[in-house]
Amino acid sequence: MLSIVCPFYNEKENLPILVERIGKVVAGLQESWEVVFVDDGSTDGGPETMATLIAHQPGFRLLRLDRNYGLTTALYAGLRAAQGDVLATLDADLQNPPEEITKLLAFLKEADIVTGVRAKRQDTWLKKISSKIANTVRRAVTKDHIQDIACTLRVFKRETLEAFYPYNGMHRFFLAIAERQGFKIKQVPVTHAPRLYGKAKYGVLNRIVGPLSDLCVVRWMFAKQIRYRFKEGTV
Ligand code: UDP
Ligand code: MG
Repeated sequence: MLSIVCPFYNEKENLPILVERIGKVVAGLQESWEVVFVDDGSTDGGPETMATLIAHQPGFRLLRLDRNYGLTTALYAGLRAAQGDVLATLDADLQNPPEEITKLLAFLKEADIVTGVRAKRQDTWLKKISSKIANTVRRAVTKDHIQDIACTLRVFKRETLEAFYPYNGMHRFFLAIAERQGFKIKQVPVTHAPRLYGKAKYGVLNRIVGPLSDLCVVRWMFAKQIRYRFKEGTV
């Protein structure tokens, strides 16, 4: 079963289009599926809109967190509650086209995680530059090969969830940790759309300060991680 997990926080205007587009995607799937929307404590009436939108749509679920916790928690909660052996995630703001999920799924035969690389990113130049710097700094520390770690548009096998550590900010390091754990990651260019409705919740500052201190923790974890092999013939 495929579970599509989509967290949202104050995205009311995007929700009707999102439900319609995801609906078309799942209608074309061969395998069984569910769609798990996670309301991360929205205050704009979005959850009520969502409840109405999916009321007569079997397979669509709405989970509501009791307050706003941030994207890591919303994603984590949704992924834990999802039932699929294959999981997909995407942002609710329509910057990640839901139609790309089908494309990513086709590559899951050759990898454990298939992740999008936003080819022509439709964000402000400041966001694009800060993202480039963040990716370069992180790669220098973690030595990973991930080009666009912040692209939420991904499909992956359930067993890779062991690389999603339950700490705030760790959704950003999921792929770097998964790669280190030996999971095979395939990176596929995906289209990226400008945000038409609602506001971006993550700016330049909260994209650098928190992640930088998280990077120190990841550096520590990678350095201290217990890794060993037995001498041949001794076990
Ligand atoms: N989001 C969330 N909780 C938050 C902040 C954001 O669930 O506290 C969701 C948001 O609704 C969107 C996704 O996370 O679906 C990415 O957020 P945003 O578009 O603001 O980030 P950006 O694309 O600018 O990095
Ligand atoms: Mg966005």
